Amino acid sequence: MKTIKIKSTNEEIQIGKVVCVGRNYADHAKELGNEIPDKFPLVFMKTATCMINSGENVIHPDYSENLHHEIELVLLVGKTVKNATLEESQNAIAGYAVGLDMTLRDLQFEAKEKGNPWTFAKIFDTAGVISKFVLSNEYKLTGNERIYLSVNSKIRQDAKIGLMLFNSAEIIKNISSRMTLEKGDLIFTGTPAGVSRVLKGDKLTGGIENISEIETTIV
Ligand code: ZN
Repeated sequence: MKTIKIKSTNEEIQIGKVVCVGRNYADHAKELGNEIPDKFPLVFMKTATCMINSGENVIHPDYSENLHHEIELVLLVGKTVKNATLEESQNAIAGYAVGLDMTLRDLQFEAKEKGNPWTFAKIFDTAGVISKFVLSNEYKLTGNERIYLSVNSKIRQDAKIGLMLFNSAEIIKNISSRMTLEKGDLIFTGTPAGVSRVLKGDKLTGGIENISEIETTIV
């Protein structure tokens, strides 16, 4: 797919850039032994080509021994913004979905050690799974929403959206101070604690309360 779907209208929107935030929940930064960013979020990218819809399979690359799940709130950018204020940033959010930022943790650790980019740890075909989107004018995020993920029905990640260190508007404000964001761009906002290794045959199910549910199988 290179498009996302809106739940209430079934409208399809072409995916632009996919910008991802790292270490946006303190407990997750700690579980991987990382420092917590305080002034500016840690940012990396994925590509539209590696995105699939909920219900499609994640293909486990044969060059990795450590594929991890990261369940995340995903923002849909609805308009062009550059150097946006907080209010403009909030208004630029067209919708919310739940996504999986699938990560090759062994490749990521190796890249980190060498001071190299995370590109191949984060970008491989099927490395991003996305649910349908709920429009921001139809649902207002409170921060109390539960975000959760189970592997083979065993709960692994379970947190509240409000625990994010940088909230949705702050993330867009920061990113837009460095690059133009446009309609169709997606933003993965970071994962809570509980990331773990998955194997071929594992079934992942999760969601964000009041937003959407997501499922995929590792093949
Ligand atoms: Zn992530």
